[in-house]
Amino acid sequence: MLNKTKDEIENPPTPGPLFGLPLPELTALMKRLNQPAYRATQLHHALYRQRVASPDEISTLPADLRDLLKTEGYTIGLPEIVQTARSIDGTERYLIRMADGETVETVWMPDGDGGERGDGSQAAEEEEKEDQENNSIAAEQNPAAFPYRRSTICVSSQVGCAVNCQFCLTAKLGIRRNLTAGEIAGQVAAVLNRHQVALSSSRGNPTPARINLVFMGMGEPFLNYANFIAAVRLLTQMPIPESRMTVSTSGILPGILDFAKEIVRPKLAVSLNASNDQVRESIMPITRKWNIAALLEALATIPLRNREWITFEYVLLGGINDSLQHADELIALVRDMRCKINLIVWNSGPNMPFHEPPQSGVSAFQKRIMAAGIPAYIRRPRGRDIYAACGQLKRTVEQPPQLVELAPA
Ligand code: SAH
Ligand code: SF4
Repeated sequence: MLNKTKDEIENPPTPGPLFGLPLPELTALMKRLNQPAYRATQLHHALYRQRVASPDEISTLPADLRDLLKTEGYTIGLPEIVQTARSIDGTERYLIRMADGETVETVWMPDGDGGERGDGSQAAEEEEKEDQENNSIAAEQNPAAFPYRRSTICVSSQVGCAVNCQFCLTAKLGIRRNLTAGEIAGQVAAVLNRHQVALSSSRGNPTPARINLVFMGMGEPFLNYANFIAAVRLLTQMPIPESRMTVSTSGILPGILDFAKEIVRPKLAVSLNASNDQVRESIMPITRKWNIAALLEALATIPLRNREWITFEYVLLGGINDSLQHADELIALVRDMRCKINLIVWNSGPNMPFHEPPQSGVSAFQKRIMAAGIPAYIRRPRGRDIYAACGQLKRTVEQPPQLVELAPA
């Protein structure tokens, strides 16, 4: 331990995956290996901009340094896509394996169909207008590039979930463990690599792809807050701007209060799902810990930016929370907030005591909210046929896998 520098003692990066380490830790590692600091910047660039899959691909580092990293036990450690299923609507669902063998699901939704209605992201909707104007120019400049105008990736934050919402299939898994920051951001890197997406413009690619992220996969991001927010920081380096990210929470108060203080943060969606505490408690037991009033109070502490709103997700469960009286209660709850309502028709699962509301009821619910001057959208389910829609992830645990192996994209 003689001759150790201060950085090493404070920040010793142990052998293991490099993907997930921020620049200060990469710098400390290079220092320990007696390398100049710019090697850390090169490594950082290779990890997050180039998204290399193996140390051998880091052409900016000398071969002996790449070998040293390998012999010391450092790997890139990107999670691996082990199964793929493609929906008729173009959505793809991936089973992604972490180094310890645990798996999560991640969903790719190409060419978002109107933001709130389809992929859950706020950014997509704003971009649709822009797209109409820019499309012809982009096609002219870059006919062979990324074939989608934009795409959204739905990212998992935990293996399973502890929150136990009664209508959600992920809840049935219980919680197995938190994902690390590298595992959260690594899902995005793995999916982008699969589709060979270029995020930065270059001479050969003047119009980089527009990728939106929604943290709406398996798990409750605000119960894994530190790793979730560290992943956001890594993802902004790729670069995906935080304005293209939306995180959804079931209403974890300490997480919301921390989130309110972040300078770099995604947009927020909150799974309200009921218009009063009694109904919410019956479908989301977390309400007993933090009721609706406390939740709304915590949300009021978030300093909303220009053109930013909070999205309330509301899963419509037939006969439970979908009457016009519920709509009126909902209006009264949120009318003073800068917000939108995102209505999600419940996606069914086996042996669950719920049913889909009739289409006429869904439209009437939406109209009632709109009539009160509150924007309300119906999120069209994506990838229902492959169980990739909201709340359907990991259905394969209960049913034999119906995944189809595909050739690489
Ligand atoms: N844990 C976070 C994010 C993941 S769930 C949260 O709960 O907010 C993403 C969204 O899917 C939430 O709004 C949730 O209410 C909704 N959801 C869960 N199960 C569903 C189902 N079976 N059908 C439709 N939406 C569902
Ligand atoms: Fe967890 Fe969200 Fe499912 Fe609730 S809806 S159990 S918080 S993943």
